[in-house]
Amino acid sequence: MKTDIEIMRHSCAHLVAAAVAELYPKAKFGVGPTVENGFYYDIDFGTLITEGDLQKIEDKAKELHKQNLEFIRQEVKIDEAIDIFKKLGQDYKVELLNDLKTKGTTKVKDEELAGVIESVDNVTLYQTGKFIDLCRGPHLKTTKDIGVFKLNKLAGAYWRGKSENPQLTRIYGLCFAKQKEMDAYLALLVEAEKRDHRKLGKELDLYHIDDMVGLGLPLWHPKGAILWRLIEDFWYKYHLANGYELVRTPHIGNKALWETSGHWGFYNDSMYPPL
Ligand SMILES: [Zn+2]
Repeated sequence: MKTDIEIMRHSCAHLVAAAVAELYPKAKFGVGPTVENGFYYDIDFGTLITEGDLQKIEDKAKELHKQNLEFIRQEVKIDEAIDIFKKLGQDYKVELLNDLKTKGTTKVKDEELAGVIESVDNVTLYQTGKFIDLCRGPHLKTTKDIGVFKLNKLAGAYWRGKSENPQLTRIYGLCFAKQKEMDAYLALLVEAEKRDHRKLGKELDLYHIDDMVGLGLPLWHPKGAILWRLIEDFWYKYHLANGYELVRTPHIGNKALWETSGHWGFYNDSMYPPL
């Protein structure tokens, strides 16, 4: 069951997709689920998208927002839906529908459908402006019911999370019911940035990263190392005081152990060779 704010955030994803559809008529749409504080939509633009384009898309979405567009629901047979999306050139939606048709609902992840299914035979489509999406809903009644939103980030994402698939552009947006909630969240981001470990690490002389050692592998300076020690001591004290006991396990083990755990099959290439 989606909460009200999730319904708003997801409706906002449709609104942004509708803006993209107007600005980039050849864009192909992946999926657009909700995330914490907002939503994203994975889109194949067929061209490179920059931060400047993001502003343009946001402006267009704000224009549509004011137009009070309805989220029009339509229930159709799955084959009819495949036809509709084929005609629209929406290959990714066609793929999802074909999967749904042949493999049933279990093989298609829920967020990929962002909902779709009434039954496997019937699916629901939602139209916002010129944009038609495959979706189970629910959505708000009209775009005007969406509070405040802002597109804040671009990233790459492989279609269905598989690296052999095409890379789509993921547009992230923030969406809140009220402006003051958006402001509070943006202020929180500014505060979090001030406490970013990469910033504090340098300023407080806690650690540095050396390319020769590797990314994400900090070399702790005396101030950082003592801080580590203090936190670790606290951690031991707190656990022991609360009835936990300590155990130790070796760093290496018999090959059979890793075969049983499944590591051998998956990570064999990146593991130390058997001694
Ligand atoms: Zn939807």
